[in-house]
Amino acid sequence: AVPLVVAINTSLAARNGILIRDRVAMEEARTLDTVVFDKTGTLTKGEQGVVGVETTAEWSEADVLSVMAAVEGDSEHMIAEAIRGAARERALTVPDARGFEALEGRGVRATVDTDATPVTDGGTESAAGATGESVYVGGPNLLRHLDVDPTAALATFADEAGSRGQGVVYLVHDGATVGAVALADVVREESRAAVDALHAMGVEVAMLTGDSEDVARAVAADLGIDTYFAEVLPGDKDAKITELQTGGRTVAMVGDGVNDAPALTRADVGIAIGSGTDVAVEAADVVLVDNDPRDVVSLLRLSRASYRKMR
Ligand code: ADP
Ligand code: MG
Repeated sequence: AVPLVVAINTSLAARNGILIRDRVAMEEARTLDTVVFDKTGTLTKGEQGVVGVETTAEWSEADVLSVMAAVEGDSEHMIAEAIRGAARERALTVPDARGFEALEGRGVRATVDTDATPVTDGGTESAAGATGESVYVGGPNLLRHLDVDPTAALATFADEAGSRGQGVVYLVHDGATVGAVALADVVREESRAAVDALHAMGVEVAMLTGDSEDVARAVAADLGIDTYFAEVLPGDKDAKITELQTGGRTVAMVGDGVNDAPALTRADVGIAIGSGTDVAVEAADVVLVDNDPRDVVSLLRLSRASYRKMR
C-alpha cells in the first residue's frame, strides 16, 4: 500500500507545482519543525524597487517620480528601471525629456521639456518647464559632484533608509534637492503568506543571507521571521543548517543560488526554487517549479496528509 500512496502523493504534488526528486525526503517533510529560507531571489524578487518617496515643499510624490522617470528615460541602470517601473505602477504621465547624459557612477542628467514640474509658491511658471533646464537624478556621489547639500528632511530620509540597508537617489532641480526615493530589493507578496501559514502549522521560520545585518533585520521584521543569520559567507551557509540540526531541529532549506547548494544538501529536506540555478536544483530533494514560496506550505501539508493515510 505504501508505494501506491507515495505515487498518488507525487502526482498531487506535481499538480501543486512541486517536483519531487527524492521521495524519502518528501516523506521526511512531515517531521520538519524549521524552514530556513535564503533571502535574495527566494523571499525577495532579487531586483531593485522603489520602496519610499520623500518630497519637499511644492513637489508631490507624483511630481518627483514622474520627473525622475523622465530623466532616467534613456538609462539602462537597474536604478533607472526601478524608477520607471514605479512611475508605471502608479500610472503617472512621464514628461518628455531630451539631452540625456550619464554621469558615470553618479547618476544621470536630462532636460525636462514639459511643465510637469510643479508651480512654485509665487504662482510663477514651473522653472524646469519654462526654461527646460537641467534636472539631475543620482546618489550621494552626485550631490558631492554638484556641491549640493540635501535638505534637512531629505537627509533624515536618507539616514533612515540607510539604517534599513536601502540606497537613496535624489532629484536635483535648480541647484537644490527637491525629492528622493529609497530603493531596496523587494519582498515577494507570497513570502508573507508563506511565513504566516508555516507559523500557523507550528513550524519555525528562519532566514539565511550574505546580505548586511541592516538589510536582514529589516526583511525579517517585515515578514515576521523568527530568526535570521546575516552576513553569512557562501561557504558557511551549510554550517548554519548543521548548527540548527545539532540543536535538535529537523530542517528544510529553501534556496535558489549556487551558494545555497551545500546547505540544500545538508538540510533534512532541500528545496530549490525552480527559477534557481541548475546547481541548486541538482542539490535539492524537491523543486518548486512555480517559484512560489507558498508551495513550501503545500509540500508540508501533502507530506503530513500522506503520512496520516499510511498509518
Ligand atoms: P553600481 O553598479 O554599484 O550601482 P554605478 O557606478 O553604476 O555602481 O553607480 C554608482 C552610484 O551612482 C549608484 O549607487 C547611484 O547612487 C548612482 N547612479 C548611477 N547611475 C544612476 C542612475 N541611472 N540613476 C540614479 N543613480 C545612479
Ligand atoms: Mg539567492
